[in-house]
Amino acid sequence: MKQKIYDYLVIGSGAAGLYFSIHAAKHGKVLLLSKDKIKDSNTYLAQGGIASVEKPSDSFEDHIYDTLVAGDELCNLKAVEMIVKEAPTVIDDLIDLGAKFSKETRKGFYSLHKEGGHTKSRVFHFKDATGRELVRALTKNVKSNKNIDIMENAMSIDLLTEHQKKKIPKDQKGVTCFGAYVLDNKSDTVLKILAKATILATGGSGQVYLHTSNPSPATGDGIAMAYRSGATISNLEFFQFHPTTLYTGKAEESSFLISEAVRGFGGILKTRKKKEFMHKFHKLGSLAPRDIVARAIDAEMKKSGDPCVYIDVTNYSAKKIIDSFPNIYNQCLEHGIDITKEMIPVVPAAHYQCGGVEADLHGRTDVRGLYAIGEVAQNGVHGANRLASNSLLEALVFGKKAATSSKHFIEKTKLEYSGIKDWKSENPENIEEKIIVSYLKNNIKRLTSEFVGIVRSKARLKMATKMIDLLLRQVRQYYNTTRLTKESLELRNLADVASLLVRFAKFRKESRGLHYNLDYLEKDNENWQKNTRVRSSGRASKKDVN
Ligand SMILES: Cc1cc2nc3c(=O)[nH]c(=O)nc-3n(C[C@H](O)[C@H](O)[C@H](O)COP(=O)(O)OP(=O)(O)OC[C@H]3O[C@@H](n4cnc5c(N)ncnc54)[C@H](O)[C@@H]3O)c2cc1C
Repeated sequence: MKQKIYDYLVIGSGAAGLYFSIHAAKHGKVLLLSKDKIKDSNTYLAQGGIASVEKPSDSFEDHIYDTLVAGDELCNLKAVEMIVKEAPTVIDDLIDLGAKFSKETRKGFYSLHKEGGHTKSRVFHFKDATGRELVRALTKNVKSNKNIDIMENAMSIDLLTEHQKKKIPKDQKGVTCFGAYVLDNKSDTVLKILAKATILATGGSGQVYLHTSNPSPATGDGIAMAYRSGATISNLEFFQFHPTTLYTGKAEESSFLISEAVRGFGGILKTRKKKEFMHKFHKLGSLAPRDIVARAIDAEMKKSGDPCVYIDVTNYSAKKIIDSFPNIYNQCLEHGIDITKEMIPVVPAAHYQCGGVEADLHGRTDVRGLYAIGEVAQNGVHGANRLASNSLLEALVFGKKAATSSKHFIEKTKLEYSGIKDWKSENPENIEEKIIVSYLKNNIKRLTSEFVGIVRSKARLKMATKMIDLLLRQVRQYYNTTRLTKESLELRNLADVASLLVRFAKFRKESRGLHYNLDYLEKDNENWQKNTRVRSSGRASKKDVN
């Protein structure tokens, strides 16, 4: 078996992983893993932008206030203050690293969008493809940095902890992370990669649902691996559904986003009969917070029986629409919809996971040497609901913080790597029938979408508990007896995440933020649980480890 040792093992190449790597490489040798190609991430798809206070009419207090209101009393004030106050420095740093942001045509100032839930215009963006520009600039820096090695098509399987050691010390208290087993898809081999600090930057888990704006790598691997290794997972019941993704009438692996900025621009939500309906649900109409818009659309669709609703921008000039949203215009045109002339058909889709691997203000988890940054982490910034354009900011600020913190950790800690077992394949069955994986995957996605989606209830969660237990057993049986592949690993992670989603949704006996339960329609400020938490015994599956 091949074995490598790095100062930093970074799992994931989105905003969090790329930015962490650039800062950590100043202090040591980094290995950056990407499950597919570097650009295959949620970050690449981000359209709206990055929130940062810039105008004299805006203030840190306003940005903090808007974030706390969205978070519905569950944000950690210190974490929110940190990202808001660090935002201008991060924007300057990104510009120094070569990232471009759109400017106002006449005055030369940066053009700042106003998005749903924000009381001021403060969203830095590059046209309507901010994520793509961010990935371009950061990747260029990462690729030219001699202290960063990059492995694409490399999927981490499980984290290395004491449980993969031949002998677990008797006085073992907490668990330590020593790196990860990684499936190198190019050579079809498993590597044992040792590191002084391991950074989970694996993004979200939108693929656990039937409709999602997330790309295919977003299968919740980081949460599943961290959970299996004994790290605390928290607040998973808060899953944000983007209210408006393009409805094409076909089954898509990932749904194209019709950004919040389209409604900020003046787009109005309407029914098939061209009737505005949002005023019935919120005083801000089409600009109401995402969760309210998603539930309103869900209710309208259930009432009318239509498979979608629409956003109407046709009362604006074609030039203005195309100049503001060239990407959205072209994507819709590819599906035969000219948004300058006709309404855009939209449906809600799973978009952002607010909960995740619990981490402190430095990105540290409760597994020693393991950091969690970006969407995989739950660090108190988003609470029960995320404010638009705060997540790229969070990924970047925490990426930089974790680089400083892990540098100190590496300097003062000497990890003992001896005795960590090698991976040894046990000649399991090589089942070529992909139908089994797709059957199990579809059942998991249907279950989450029907029972742990936008609207939940006691009866739905009870049913979901029974069904997910059965599915989990079937997935484990399949995983343990067949050849290891990317697909089987993803299936196992999706099953673990779905099971956690159901457990978390059952914990919260109230409706708050993104968690909406028909049997508990109100917030319960007397008996409520601030953060919900789950922690496993930390014994990852022993399959193929000798
Ligand atoms: C369509 C869309 C639009 C959005 N628009 C905005 C916006 O305008 N503003 C905003 O603030 N937020 C936006 N978001 C949310 C934001 O993009 C994400 O929260 C953010 O990009 C997360 O960054 P990340 O680095 O944590 O994860 P990601 O960017 O998702 O990167 C995760 C990386 O981990 C890799 N990975 C996963 N599992 C493994 C594994 N087992 N082994 C190796 N690698 C692995 C993936 O391949 C990927 O490279 C949007 C999200 C979507 C989907």
